[in-house]
Amino acid sequence: NNPFQFLITSIQSKLPSAGTTIFTVMSALAVKHNAINLGQGFPDFPMNEELVSLVTEAMMNGHNQYVHMCGLPLLRERLAEKVEGLYGQQINPDTDITITPGGTYAIYTALTTILQPGDEVILFEPAYDSYVPNIEINGAIAVPIPLVFPDYAIDWNVVRAKITPRTKAIILNSPHNPTGSVLSETDIEQLRLTVKDTNIIIISDEVYEHLIFDQKKHLSILRYPDLMERSFVCFSFGKVYHCTGWKLGYCIGPANLMKEFRKVHQFNCFTCNSPMQVALAAFLTKKEPYLELGSFLQQKRDYFAGLMKQTPFEPLPSYGSYFQLYSYKNISDLPEQAFAEWLTEKGGVATIPVSAFYKVPVENQVVRFCFAKKESTLESAVQKLLAIS
Ligand code: PMP
Ligand code: GLN
Repeated sequence: NNPFQFLITSIQSKLPSAGTTIFTVMSALAVKHNAINLGQGFPDFPMNEELVSLVTEAMMNGHNQYVHMCGLPLLRERLAEKVEGLYGQQINPDTDITITPGGTYAIYTALTTILQPGDEVILFEPAYDSYVPNIEINGAIAVPIPLVFPDYAIDWNVVRAKITPRTKAIILNSPHNPTGSVLSETDIEQLRLTVKDTNIIIISDEVYEHLIFDQKKHLSILRYPDLMERSFVCFSFGKVYHCTGWKLGYCIGPANLMKEFRKVHQFNCFTCNSPMQVALAAFLTKKEPYLELGSFLQQKRDYFAGLMKQTPFEPLPSYGSYFQLYSYKNISDLPEQAFAEWLTEKGGVATIPVSAFYKVPVENQVVRFCFAKKESTLESAVQKLLAIS
């Protein structure tokens, strides 16, 4: 008897098969059952105090009005310097970088910029959960290709077999959420062969660029001028400075693509918050905070893995990101979603079922743990896991 029912039935859902994102579902379940949240990816340790002070200072100094719609010019200059230092690529801060409210928005905007109804986009599953809805909301078609279990490697022969005249883009994500796999030089070579003589655009999600372990090198698309020419490369400050709640990131691409990206961006959020951009521009002159991130998180991965050895969970390798997958096949026959719910309710530890990262769920009896936590949090979580196993 809802008098407004007519309103609901009069709209056609843009995303008829979408529910609530798994990160929100599992975080809410963790709160409900007072479980330790190793599900949604966010650090539980404090961010750098100097950076917090720089934001306060920026506000006190009056940086509280709109900045340029493409982002604070000084921040874009500093990012261009960073990119040249890390990846040897000269980019023009005026034309090739746009500051966005987070990495997810950058990916969404890139897809919206290039997609027409009926276009196809290749992505690799398990995939970060926003990609498929971001494609479908544009009337385009997601073409998921499974990463090969248990290494989660790309089978480039399958990729080539899936390319059609309608293939508009390929989405890459390295270091990879949720598996922690990373692209190799062979992958880059295969990518190059695959897109050669096509108009395929690459959307490269590199939000975990610094979270890479075991002396591996992050193979940013920005290292390869021939690939960069056809790419949108997306980043997130939230992952670099332990401030996921700031929701600030950026997209880098060649001027001709970026020009179209900015047309979409200007009528969506127009510009991002100013004091954080002023603070980040000042803080970016320091390299240690981002250069030390990989070893800092590698220690966390290893600390957690050491504790997990006491449990029947079996690790799959993680070479980057905040995450590691663990198999629970020695513990339960439940499907992943049911196991993750059970573990939250009865075991007191929230994780993310990897099946949630597929358009059509695939079951491998693995769940994703986020190890970007204080040691005490990881210890308490493993105590709880020991109690159920
Ligand atoms: N891509 C991947 C793979 C992620 O894990 C995240 C983390 N949320 C993002 C993009 C987006 O980050 P942001 O919070 O900056 O939107
Ligand atoms: N990127 C984070 C994760 O994978 C969470 C992002 C979100 O909650 N949307 O857990």
